[in-house]
Amino acid sequence: MKGEGKPRTFKNEDKEFEEKIEEEEEDIETTEEEIETTDEVIEATEEEVEQVEQPVEIVQEEKEKMVLPGELIGTSEEFIPKKGTFEEKGNIYATATGYVKTNPKERSISVEPVTNTPPKLAVGDIVIGQVTDLKESVALVEIAGIKGRGERAIVNSEGAAIHVSNVKDAYVKDLSYEFAPFDIVKGRVLDLRNMRLSTVNKELGVMKAYCGNCRTVLKRENDKLKCPNCKRTETRKMSSDYGTGII
Ligand code: ZN
Repeated sequence: MKGEGKPRTFKNEDKEFEEKIEEEEEDIETTEEEIETTDEVIEATEEEVEQVEQPVEIVQEEKEKMVLPGELIGTSEEFIPKKGTFEEKGNIYATATGYVKTNPKERSISVEPVTNTPPKLAVGDIVIGQVTDLKESVALVEIAGIKGRGERAIVNSEGAAIHVSNVKDAYVKDLSYEFAPFDIVKGRVLDLRNMRLSTVNKELGVMKAYCGNCRTVLKRENDKLKCPNCKRTETRKMSSDYGTGII
């Protein structure tokens, strides 16, 4: 680099001097760049160390993260959706009750269904389920788990129903103001023959609800639910545990 400047002759010596200084400054910059490169190498080594430790931690997290059908588990920017999931508008949802598995190598996410033997339901059990449909006088619910027996969640559960008279301690004019498909609800088993559930109690009712317009999880605002994305307001027969994740 320095050699290039030499053959050129400058009448103005000051100019030549200035150029030399510039060249020297360039040299310094190069040296700094080299130092930075060396730092990067060190960082990369640290990352590698983390990667070696990670798999053990991930396995532990997966064990704890149980999801229900329809639950948001990630985005398509983060993961490639695999079995037990579906993608909609860039979001990845679970299609099964089970444990979230991620594969950092493939950047994939899947839900491994719970395969334990279903426990027997009893009258008075508090169950967690998902609203699958609304009829004129009943909300149909697919039971996914029993409170206090989370590890033995039900896989192929028969449907249950919440009759309009068992929703809350007040007259229900229209069920669509209380429940909507995809809602996660907590209810008490009233009878096993007809699989009737009740949500008459402040702890019982909707635990998690999705916006009817954009499917974003609704946020509680006093006695209403608001979509943080499209600002739509909805109502539900909410559980006092709405949004807390407490079952
Ligand atoms: Zn919305």
